[in-house]
Amino acid sequence: MRRVVRGRRVVLPDGERPASIHIADGRISAVSAYNDTPTDVDLVEAGDLVVSPGLVDSHVHINEPGRTDWEGFETATRAAAAGGITTIVDMPLNSIPATTTVAGLEAKRTAARGRCHVDVAFWGGIVPGNEAEIAPLLRGGVRGFKCFLTPSGVDEFPNVDEAALRRALPVLAAAGGRSYPLLVHAEDPAALLSHEGDRRSYRAYLATRPAVAEVRAIELIAALAREFGITAHIVHVSSAAGVAAISQAIGKGTALTAETCPHYLALTATEIADGATPFKCAPPIREAGDREALWRSLETGVLQAVVTDHSPSPPSMKCLESGDFMSAWGGIASLQLALPVVWSNARGRGFGPADVVRWMCVAPARLAGLSGRKGEIVEGADADLVLWDPEAAWTAAGASLQHRHALTPYEGRRLRGVVAATYLRGEAVWREGAFAPSPTGTLL
Ligand SMILES: [Zn+2]
Repeated sequence: MRRVVRGRRVVLPDGERPASIHIADGRISAVSAYNDTPTDVDLVEAGDLVVSPGLVDSHVHINEPGRTDWEGFETATRAAAAGGITTIVDMPLNSIPATTTVAGLEAKRTAARGRCHVDVAFWGGIVPGNEAEIAPLLRGGVRGFKCFLTPSGVDEFPNVDEAALRRALPVLAAAGGRSYPLLVHAEDPAALLSHEGDRRSYRAYLATRPAVAEVRAIELIAALAREFGITAHIVHVSSAAGVAAISQAIGKGTALTAETCPHYLALTATEIADGATPFKCAPPIREAGDREALWRSLETGVLQAVVTDHSPSPPSMKCLESGDFMSAWGGIASLQLALPVVWSNARGRGFGPADVVRWMCVAPARLAGLSGRKGEIVEGADADLVLWDPEAAWTAAGASLQHRHALTPYEGRRLRGVVAATYLRGEAVWREGAFAPSPTGTLL
């Protein structure tokens, strides 16, 4: 039977309004007026809930195979479904092998097959010397490539320098043109500082990774993107100076896009206690002035996307007992919390659900080459939908999340926004606290 999902607050490309979404064979067959609902359909009445496209999270570290005890396809995609995310794009590192070869990509696909509650796509990795894998990885279906300018945190994914990029980028340009972005962890290792003082001090950790490192890296990548004719994308922008550098590069005609993450939009250095290592990530969470510059950049379009950089580890690696920021794993688990954390902080700044959709659905889908299929409620797109209550308040508790590990820096935070149901290709994968009986996500 055909299905219609209708509501008073459907977020369409031209804004929020009452509408009926008609679904056939897993796709949106039509979008019509709210009252235009045939009688012979299975009607899902969303009422006053917001009906958004399913979120697309283009920055997720799933870690399987090889480090499934950190996070795996099953647990990550359960968290995604419960959080209203219907597509995730897996990062090429923290799994073993890394996705830097076709064999690595195949190992990923084998590990993921039949285990995913939402759709999953893959980024490839560029590491020193793997130029010959770039074209085969693109043929194998990766959506683009990720590289690091600083050590990534894992040995099997070494960082590149300018010389290595000068070998890889002509190959990427020849194989993919501007269609497949180079995603860059943008910190210049030469601008990082050695640690001084108490290893439990957040301020001392923050001082080791100054914003100038982000600026220098962005300037280098922008220059290389212009020189080699590729599209670059700066991941997890953290600073006011960083967005200024991006704005300048865009002004010079650089094909450059950029994202930030919920933690840079929600948290500041002043609220991170010494020893509170669940908050450690790189680049680090900075000052209120940086946070507000990131919000303004989302408004002006200098930043286009908000994605999680969900990067969990076993709690033991977060050094909770010692509180040692220099030894703790740098990564924040937030997949299931992305929508409520961003929405809770957006609503007080005058933004609405349509803005959240622009940042968390449309832009990441475009980055991963999935426009028209994911991230928008339009005819022909997959019927991936999330029904959520923007007013409902709740308290985040790690133990109630679906991630493999309960540890989250948002523990005890009061949040707004509750996901009532998540639909993947027209079928509920999460509704009223329960999952569909078997995983139906596909590998894109
Ligand atoms: Zn990451």
